[in-house]
Amino acid sequence: MRILFASSEARSLIKTGGLADVSADLPTALSELGHEVRLVLPAYLDSKAKHAWKKLGTLALPPPFPPVEVLEGILPDSQVSVWLIDAPLYFDRAGNPYLSPDGHEWPDNHLRFGLFGQAIADLALGGAPTHWRPDILHCNDWQTGLAPALLSDRPHRPGCVFTIHNLAYQGLFPRSAFDELELPHHLWNPEALEFYGQLSFIKGGIAFADRLTTVSPTYAREILTPEQGGGLEGLLAKRANVLTGILNGIDTHLWDPRHDRFIAHLYDPTDRAAKAVNTSALRTALGLENIASLPLLAHIGRLVEQKGIDLILTALEPLLAAGRAQAVILGSGEKRFEQGLEKLAMRYPRMIATRIGYDEALAHRIEASADAFLMPSRFEPCGLNQMYSLRYGTVPIVRRTGGLADTVIDASPEALLEGKANGFVFDEISSAALSVAIERALDAWHKPDLWAALVAAGSACECDWRTRAREYVELYRRML
Ligand code: ADP
Repeated sequence: MRILFASSEARSLIKTGGLADVSADLPTALSELGHEVRLVLPAYLDSKAKHAWKKLGTLALPPPFPPVEVLEGILPDSQVSVWLIDAPLYFDRAGNPYLSPDGHEWPDNHLRFGLFGQAIADLALGGAPTHWRPDILHCNDWQTGLAPALLSDRPHRPGCVFTIHNLAYQGLFPRSAFDELELPHHLWNPEALEFYGQLSFIKGGIAFADRLTTVSPTYAREILTPEQGGGLEGLLAKRANVLTGILNGIDTHLWDPRHDRFIAHLYDPTDRAAKAVNTSALRTALGLENIASLPLLAHIGRLVEQKGIDLILTALEPLLAAGRAQAVILGSGEKRFEQGLEKLAMRYPRMIATRIGYDEALAHRIEASADAFLMPSRFEPCGLNQMYSLRYGTVPIVRRTGGLADTVIDASPEALLEGKANGFVFDEISSAALSVAIERALDAWHKPDLWAALVAAGSACECDWRTRAREYVELYRRML
């Protein structure tokens, strides 16, 4: 099959979150399964600088957009061809693809991703300059949402899949943006792009794609509820017959403690003593007191309300104060959480190390060192770090939501008996519920046989992309 995969980020070129991992790994896995894949992204300044690109030709776009250049290259470490949409006025900006350096959304995001959506739609029809007609167009998140809408009344368009990676980000703009984009009038209606008087990019995908997917079976059910549907639960319910949840995989080469190029000591996840060498090295490197008799708890992620970082701060303090656990946290995001973390680190400098920023190498070292990983997310479409943790012998402590519910199996007596338990799961969104789960984990950590059973079950997790990519191929086939 010929698959055009459209996304606003892909690891190695540009990354702000899990979308970048999926958009690098799924096209790679599809291409390894023998499919012809093209990945299309905006030509951000940083992505252009990272690689050699060849000019393929000019793509003429309808007003209000200027013509754009299509650049061609290869996604690093893969066979996947990449097309970058080069529109310097829109994308030649350093740093984050969505936010200006002061942390606000770029004021012309509707134009930037409007242009991107239009370019995707045109490429999907296979004309100049690519002359490559895909069987399937696979769009991802609101930044690509206009493409399915623009293609909806075109004959000979490819089958269109739209994947929701996080419904909390919908691409909402005032009505004036709809006019500025010169979108067809019939799209301004509640069955199409209008969302309570605003323009919704994500509705373009949800209303018009032939098939909808999201990144875990549980999240696929959750987004049909008012609590998690973000106002789109009604439309999603109407389309529930074409909506499925397919779990994300992880890059099992990049995330493998036996071959990880970032970590001090390679180890087998079931070898607790070998892993402890990394724990000790990280404690020293981050300035923690090297207390091998204490478990090391960790968290890595965007410091936003979704991830429950506030619950972590509250639950950790008494443990650090009582000298019952140590912690390491890596992340960046909202100032209030960054400051909260820094305060905690100043109060207990020997017990908790916090690093504000984005640091891939450190993320690997933390996974290779921590005993348990905290993910008390309020919602979590899929989540990747719990899967990295399972691979690294780091026991996940998670809230039962989205992909966390689908990948982590609580250490209940029954699950332990069946050899399936691989972590600790709690339900209520509260620091008290998180604390109870941490207490259960601390208790298990002091029982070597129990801990070994959890780690063994976790390290056996089948979370490679090849398995997941087959599920997408099956979905594409059913569409054709
Ligand atoms: P989301 O997409 O909601 O941010 P995911 O768990 O799906 O959450 O993916 C986040 C990805 O980004 C993971 O690969 C995680 O390790 C990585 N990540 C997030 N924050 C950081 C950070 N500060 N440093 C390094 N890696 C990070």
